[in-house]
Amino acid sequence: MEDKMVTIDELVQIILTNDKQYDLSKILSAHEFAAKAHEGQFRSSGQPYIMHPLAVAKILLELGMDTDTVCAALLHDVVEDTAATTEDLKKRFGTDVAQLVEGVTKLKKIPIFNKEQQQAENVRKIMLAMAEDIRVIIIKLCDRLHNMRTLGFRPADKQRNTAAETMHIYVPIANRLGIRAVKDELEDLSFKYLDPFAHSEIEQIMAMKKNEREEFIHSIKAYIGEHLKDHQFEREPEISGRVKSNYSIYKKMYMQHKEFDQIYDKYAVRVIVSTVAECYAVLGLIHDMYRPLPNRFKDYISTPKANMYQSLHTTVLGREGIPFEVQIRTWDMHATAEYGIAAHWKYKEGIKGTDKMDQRLAWVRQVLETQQTSDDVEEIVRIIKNDLAPEDIFVMTPKGDTVSLPVKATVIDFAYRIHTEIGHKTMGAKVDGKIVPLDYELQTGQICEIMISKDPDKGPNRAWLDIAKTNDAKAKMRSWFKKERREENITTGRSMLEKELKRSRILIPEEELEAFLADDLKRHNCSSLEDFYASIGYGGIILQKLLPRWKDLYHKNYCMEEKPQDQSIITPIRTPSTSRIILDDISDCAVKFAQCCNPLPGDDIIGFITRGHGISVHTTQCINYKSMLSRNIPEEQERWVEIQWTDTSNTAMQTGIEIVALDRVGLVFDICAILTEARIPIVHSSSRVLKNGNAIFDASIKIVNKSQLTAVFDRIRKIKGVLSVERATN
Ligand code: MN
Repeated sequence: MEDKMVTIDELVQIILTNDKQYDLSKILSAHEFAAKAHEGQFRSSGQPYIMHPLAVAKILLELGMDTDTVCAALLHDVVEDTAATTEDLKKRFGTDVAQLVEGVTKLKKIPIFNKEQQQAENVRKIMLAMAEDIRVIIIKLCDRLHNMRTLGFRPADKQRNTAAETMHIYVPIANRLGIRAVKDELEDLSFKYLDPFAHSEIEQIMAMKKNEREEFIHSIKAYIGEHLKDHQFEREPEISGRVKSNYSIYKKMYMQHKEFDQIYDKYAVRVIVSTVAECYAVLGLIHDMYRPLPNRFKDYISTPKANMYQSLHTTVLGREGIPFEVQIRTWDMHATAEYGIAAHWKYKEGIKGTDKMDQRLAWVRQVLETQQTSDDVEEIVRIIKNDLAPEDIFVMTPKGDTVSLPVKATVIDFAYRIHTEIGHKTMGAKVDGKIVPLDYELQTGQICEIMISKDPDKGPNRAWLDIAKTNDAKAKMRSWFKKERREENITTGRSMLEKELKRSRILIPEEELEAFLADDLKRHNCSSLEDFYASIGYGGIILQKLLPRWKDLYHKNYCMEEKPQDQSIITPIRTPSTSRIILDDISDCAVKFAQCCNPLPGDDIIGFITRGHGISVHTTQCINYKSMLSRNIPEEQERWVEIQWTDTSNTAMQTGIEIVALDRVGLVFDICAILTEARIPIVHSSSRVLKNGNAIFDASIKIVNKSQLTAVFDRIRKIKGVLSVERATN
């Protein structure tokens, strides 16, 4: 394990020989502060702790990051691991440094990813930190890089976890930010711990014939160099060559099942020139010198990759019959390719042309937005990884503009890529002049024309969510459903939720539902139940993922034991007393009291005209009533009728009660005494002991009206040991 001690003198040397202006005294004072704070602390490797922040600062210096970032790197562990506070840092090093350290500290508190939920939270926090100050994530990436370099000192289980987390989260982010050196090394190091056998196999292959390969690359470089000399360039082109990284060879060998000798582009030669015109000129020269392999040319200059990478790629056949890849780019493109977002700091005036910083941050915002419409971590990670796929396809618009899409992208993806509105209004599509179905998978070189509807209200179809392959298109559709169909979403969402809850036997009284779902509302940024229903309705929340947790929660909080479903315990039929109900417009009609809510005189009630069984009476609080209402079926709505209690009758009605109490001798007696005293007939009763030791007492009693029940409940509550008294609902 190589882990050389980095010293502050080494940093000073780098700073002094750099053409960038650094505030050396600030950096020295940050080092002094950190060294003092970490005094007496050691790494797993046994080295003094300060060597870790020093190593991280060195990586950042090599990337060309600024003074504040280097200071923050030196101080990045002090708030977490020592007595120093953010306030101390603010006073001594200013707000910027303090905030950077705070940002990195926050990221550290994220647990190592294992469960899906945590992983989502993890990515969310990283994205938020990036949106605040992108330097935070650059420090974090370098921190991770040094930790990966020294991972061998950690316990074996930690190694795998950390490597997996690095490969799945930090590598895609480094790639997305375009910091190639950091990305390559993180990837190779993770690979080493995730698949040690394959890693050592490839290392062995690479060690064999090493000289031969170097000789091969050298001869290509020399040959190309000779030819370029005959042409005029603004500045002499730079030619370099290398064997590609272990991991990229691994991907080809293990994922595409190729033999080492079958990998075409394990050798890469790079030519760097001054202008775009020179790039294409060099391409022509190369193709004159070597035979290009078909379908291997990629123009990332006219169509940059999502991480802004630009270059021309072509694979040609060498004179020895060995193929190799040539990458051609300008110096600016090279800076972007190597340093990505860090180039913004490395090169004083940034990189010429468009402000790439803005574009990169736009990407961060896009991911954050997608997160708000999606709860699927895998999808979020896929977004970070996606659109980077080197095997992109290029499809043309009828006007000749190129659109790059991932392989297997459909006409829908194409439409949304051109413009969100075009996506929404898509009616059909023609590919190379022929009409194709919307799920048609596009191929490179095809010309695609989208036919759109003139109807201003036209929107996407829910089925398209399954057809689209790009997250971009899916996110746009979801946000359309979210905005344009709110009412519809609420209704759909509510009935979906009710159906699923019922199916899972999670029976929560309507008024407690919001409290029950409070955590989920917060997690999904919903400020009300309606918002939550709407999110379910447009597909932003997948119920199936939440149900298992809700079941646990429900069992913990609502039922101590399964209620016996034995019908004989509760007498279901009761004597209807039509005389007690006043019906609007309907007279002489059989009335039945619904068993789901057992209405009592005094309750707000509503009647439902059943088919052939008269009117069934529900309370307006009844879950069944509410869910039938929300289904919004006109034919059903018409059958609800206003009804009222009369106050003339005194016929008692049967209702169920449920009392939970600390178990003790004489409890049942005390309850019965109160009921008897109140002259309330007990039709049936039963009691049993719950798992937790409490007693539950169920009874069917005859009650005249709600106020009689309320009064007797008040008295029962005063019995020693009684925890709760409730009307039973079936
Ligand atoms: Mn650290």
